[in-house]
Formats: sequence, C-alpha cells, structure tokens
Amino acid sequence: MAHLPILTAPDARLKKKSKPVETVDTDVRQLMDDMLETMYAAPGIGLAAPQVGVLKRVIVLDIDREEVKTGPLFLANPEIIEASDEDVSYEEGCLSVPEHYSDVVRPAKVRVRYLDREGAQQEMACEGLLATCVQHEIDHLDGILFIDHISALKRNMILRKLLKARKEKERDEAEGKQPAAKSKDHAPAL
Ligand SMILES: [Zn+2]
Repeated sequence: MAHLPILTAPDARLKKKSKPVETVDTDVRQLMDDMLETMYAAPGIGLAAPQVGVLKRVIVLDIDREEVKTGPLFLANPEIIEASDEDVSYEEGCLSVPEHYSDVVRPAKVRVRYLDREGAQQEMACEGLLATCVQHEIDHLDGILFIDHISALKRNMILRKLLKARKEKERDEAEGKQPAAKSKDHAPAL
C-alpha cells in the first residue's frame, strides 16, 4: 500500500467530473487500498479518488463514532437512489480544503447503490454522519467541493486563504522551517 499526495483547492483536477469504473479489478482494488491508507494517515473519515488526482468514481469511508461505526467501506460508482425530504446541517471539513469548516445543508437520509471491493452491487441506507459523508464524497466525483454549497463571498475568502497558506508553506519548506501544527478541535475531514 502507498500513501498518495492529497490535492488541495484551488486545483483544476478537483473541479472535474470523474468517470465510472468498468469493473472492480486489481487496479481499482489497489487504488481503494491506497486511498484508505492515505485517508487514515491524513487523518480523515472519507476520501474520493479525485482528491488524489485519479478521476475515477471511487470513494472510501471509515466512520468510527459512538453513534455509527462503519469499518472501512469501499464504494465504486456510488449513486444516490433515494434522498429524504428532511434536511440536516453539519459542519463539514475536507482534506482538500484544509483548516476550513462550514455548515452545509444536505438531505438527512440517503440510500446509495454501489459496487463493493469485490465488484458486487450493494445498497446501503445512510443517516447521520454517514449520510453527510457519502454525499460529500459523491460530490467530489462530480467536481463539487463543500465550499460550493456556501455563499460565493465565504467561498472566495476561503480560496484566497488557501492560496496564501500554500505560498507560506512553500516558502517555509524552501527555508527549511517545520510546518505549523494543525488545529484538532474541529469535526473530522471528509
Ligand atoms: Zn472532501
């Protein structure tokens, strides 16, 4: 298994629509395993293939909360086939939008159809954090980030800060400085 570099916004690859996988073959399984390891190391609770620069419809998740423990989940070609009328707001973060968080409103419950790691078709009923996470990751496959769900004013402010942080990081790396510690008092990144 390998750690893959995670792309951060703004990056054109995060805005592209990913292609379905034809079959869940050895290459796709390898991608899933590498993505899971990358997600655990980040750390995050969800990761979509375009976040590591691979434009395939593949996501991985592992939610370990008091109310929901999923274990590792591998989803190829995930599709939302039902969504509740009831909405819920959750403070989302994203490994591709580091250090920024915002409330996003989404359907509270969804039903998702996908191919599992063995290529078998499955359906899963999702609610709570799992529903939020699945919808956030499927958005990535369509080139949508959680900041696309918030006001343009706030989105542009975050993108400007991300660019500034990237430049500072590059300058610090060039000068051999240690990176600043990440804040840990927020929701897990998706
Ligand atoms: Zn994300």
